[in-house]
Amino acid sequence: MKALVKKKSEPGLWLEEVPTPDIGINDVLIKIKRTAICGTDLHIYNWDSWAQKTIPVPMVIGHEFVGEIIEVGSNVNDFHPGQIVSGEGHVVCGRCRNCMAGRRHLCSHTSGVGVNRQGAFAEYLALPMSNVWEHRPGIDLDIAALFDPFGNAVHTALQYDLLGEDILITGAGPIGIMAAAVCRHAGARHVVITDINPQRLALAKKLGATCTVDVTRQSLSTVRKQLGMTEGFDIGLEMSGNPAAFQDLLSHMCHGGKVSILGIPADPVAIDWSLVIFNMLTLKGIYGREMYETWYKMSVFIESGLDISAVITHRFDYTDFQHGFDVMNSGEACKVILNWDS
Ligand code: NAD
Ligand code: ZN
Repeated sequence: MKALVKKKSEPGLWLEEVPTPDIGINDVLIKIKRTAICGTDLHIYNWDSWAQKTIPVPMVIGHEFVGEIIEVGSNVNDFHPGQIVSGEGHVVCGRCRNCMAGRRHLCSHTSGVGVNRQGAFAEYLALPMSNVWEHRPGIDLDIAALFDPFGNAVHTALQYDLLGEDILITGAGPIGIMAAAVCRHAGARHVVITDINPQRLALAKKLGATCTVDVTRQSLSTVRKQLGMTEGFDIGLEMSGNPAAFQDLLSHMCHGGKVSILGIPADPVAIDWSLVIFNMLTLKGIYGREMYETWYKMSVFIESGLDISAVITHRFDYTDFQHGFDVMNSGEACKVILNWDS
């Protein structure tokens, strides 16, 4: 089969012929239809220091996908060929304390599809049945390919009750933008999102942010005054990984405000802890998606009319992957879809 392989320990990605994966008795074989490029794939493509210490070479990369089941292992009863599925990219051990208690997103021995094990940028993917999510009939395939990052947005946004609350999101990357859409859909009042990229802020507005703030031109204090928000934001979602954005967010929370942190800073970050202590903030780190409550919510949100399609800015055939990675690196793209149906 054809696959996009990190073949050498240097920047780039190679379209190669590799063996179609074998499936074990508990696995399904998925014929890939669409994939999406994640920031993680870009780190691997660019071969930065994180990728160099994390990715064994050669590796088929990619973890955002949708496809059709074409074969199931002898132990698999709940899935059958023909089903349209995505998959949870975190393969958990099933035996640690958290896994045994049903808290699989907290597994201490997670391995990542397209990071530690063969990935989805390929014609076929073998996946344990416990990682398969079947889509509702009629799902748009491009949207289905986004369930992994959409899940990051949903998992982060739904940590706290959003109904009637004022939300601050720092970082209008694809995940921040989808989170803005989720917050509006879930009944928030003000959904204010910050970034330094006007194109991304315009997209955030299109998807439901009530107010966008380019922090290179405008301060959050001014925006809060305009909105008549004297006490600060009830809920903060950190989705930039940028230390200045995180500090800004902490400074504009109300007393007792609740913060979910998804953005991954490149280096350790110092913050003003007095804001956390005197304002009695709650900070919570978020990783991945809950298995499978987040997936359930995603399917239901799409069914109930949440439209995140505008987050997709580019579509290419998989053979044209180079263009996909180029537009991602240029910063002009939000989500880029690669089509494997041919
Ligand atoms: P992204 O890098 O595309 O988006 C980050 C955005 O933050 C960019 O649009 C950037 O312009 C903006 N930004 C930079 N400086 C800023 C500032 N001072 N104020 C406001 N915004 C600023 O990333 P993404 O794919 O949307 O992911 C969001 C973050 O979540 C990233 O840090 C990513 O590494 C992280 N992530 C975490 C998990 C997890 O499980 N915890 C999963 C996926 C991604
Ligand atoms: Zn485990």
